Formats: sequence, C-alpha cells, structure tokens
Amino acid sequence: MAKKRAFEIAFVGLKPGLHEFNFDLEDQFFIDKDVQDMTHPKAHVKMTLEKNSGFMLLKFEVGGSAAVHCDRCGNPLNIDLWDDFKMLVKMVENADEMNEQEEDPDVFYISRGESHINVEDWIYEFVMLSVPLQNMCSPEKMGGPQCNNEVLEKLKEMEQQQNEHNANNLWKGLDKFKNN
Ligand SMILES: [Zn+2]
Repeated sequence: MAKKRAFEIAFVGLKPGLHEFNFDLEDQFFIDKDVQDMTHPKAHVKMTLEKNSGFMLLKFEVGGSAAVHCDRCGNPLNIDLWDDFKMLVKMVENADEMNEQEEDPDVFYISRGESHINVEDWIYEFVMLSVPLQNMCSPEKMGGPQCNNEVLEKLKEMEQQQNEHNANNLWKGLDKFKNN
C-alpha cells in the first residue's frame, strides 16, 4: 500500500453504482506524512464509491488503532480509530474555480475530462480526524498505576508553586499600590 498509485482511482472505467476499495495503512504511510504524536498506527479505510452521472459520492469508514500518550500523565495508551466521512465529488467544466469558491469542505470538484481521482490526502485527513482530540487514561485508571502517580505529584507541585508565585505577585502589586 506504499505505492502512490494505490490511491489513484480510475473512476472512468467504473460502471454506475457502488464500488468498494480497501486501504490498509501502517507505519510507513504515517512516517512519510511525518506524524509524530502517535506510534504504530494501524488504520483500515473502507471506501465506498457511488458513481452517478455528473457526481460521485465517496464514503470513508475508518477503523484501527494507535499508541498515544495520556494528556494528563504521559503514560502510553492504546486508542481506537473509528469514524466515517463523506465526500461529494462533482464533475464540472471549471473545477479549479469552483473549488476556490466552495466553502463546504465535504464537496470537491473535478473537471469533466478527468479520468482518475487521487484519494490519498482525504484518507490521510480522515484517519487523522479519527484520532480523539483528548487522550486520557480511563477514569478508573486515573491515579492508579496506569495514570502515573509520580508525574501527577510533580504536576500538582508545579501548580502549587505557580499559585504561590501568583499570590506573591499579587501582594507585590498591592504593596506598590500602597506606596503611591
Ligand atoms: Zn494518565
């Protein structure tokens, strides 16, 4: 699946109706994209292409897993990638112009003369959008061995120091006020 051509869909040759494409993405795909905040991602994308005259409806179903770090304590975590996305591809005469004007991110234009469509960027984008925004140890693991106590202690300490520092500054500010 490392081959670029794998993402080129020759849709001209397809009959009207539904067609299924499957993409298995592993480390190398993400290394090439310089993805750094997750390791050993494995994603499977099932793409369904519904060909109609004048437009195509693409549906991407993302599944998979990756290793990330807990936002709270930094412990390694495994997460599931799971989501689906749709893309409407319309064939028009002035595709570039239409793409510039289109505000809906789920609509894309290609020119009528086109025979192939490259879905690599969409697949990458949709896999990345399937990564949860926040990664945290589950509530029952927080404070337990899974949600590293030492790190949490340090964070608490730093927070306390910060608060004391802020309090000192506040007093300093008041002193200045008093002197005036
Ligand atoms: Zn944690």
